Amino acid sequence: MNPLSLKMVAVVGEQLAIAWEDGVEVYLDFEKLRRACPCAKCQGEPDVIGLVLVPRVNYSAKSFELIRYEEVGGYALRLFWADGHSTGIYSFPLLRSL
Ligand SMILES: [Zn+2]
Repeated sequence: MNPLSLKMVAVVGEQLAIAWEDGVEVYLDFEKLRRACPCAKCQGEPDVIGLVLVPRVNYSAKSFELIRYEEVGGYALRLFWADGHSTGIYSFPLLRSL
């Protein structure tokens, strides 16, 4: 299978609209996106014996406000949230799976 590629990304209200090159279009709620943030702060990192402790993240209204996004290396989107969080790199397969 070819790697996923983006045709278009746009913010529509409280959602991120993504059109994929293969014709599929999806609308992702900001809140859902933020809760799926793949960064280590949000999802935890395996410790030395491989246990992952999922950190408790304190969300506020600003956590679900998307300020901007940028494409990273043609394989992911980086999302910038109003509460200052911007370490999440959302790979295309992850976005596609949401
Ligand atoms: Zn995060």
